[in-house]
Amino acid sequence: MYVVNQEKCTGCGTCTDVCPTEAIQIESGKAVITWECMDCGACPRVCPEGAIKKQDVVLAAPGAQ
Ligand code: SF4
Ligand code: SF4
Repeated sequence: MYVVNQEKCTGCGTCTDVCPTEAIQIESGKAVITWECMDCGACPRVCPEGAIKKQDVVLAAPGAQ
């Protein structure tokens, strides 16, 4: 799934406009991606701050990215 870097996000809302599943919500001025994200990859391409990154949910494998 994708995650928002809360340090970089300015809460501009651009990502919420492109999300097909409305998985992104602005909370306290920052974007938050919920479980409804279906990994379409649209939001990181439009974020002007580069705040959205893909984060694979991998359970602790030593040395794994
Ligand atoms: S990757 Fe796609 S579905 Fe997931 S939050 Fe971004 S725009 Fe929405
Ligand atoms: S587009 Fe980027 S900076 Fe704007 S609200 Fe979404 S994550 Fe934050």
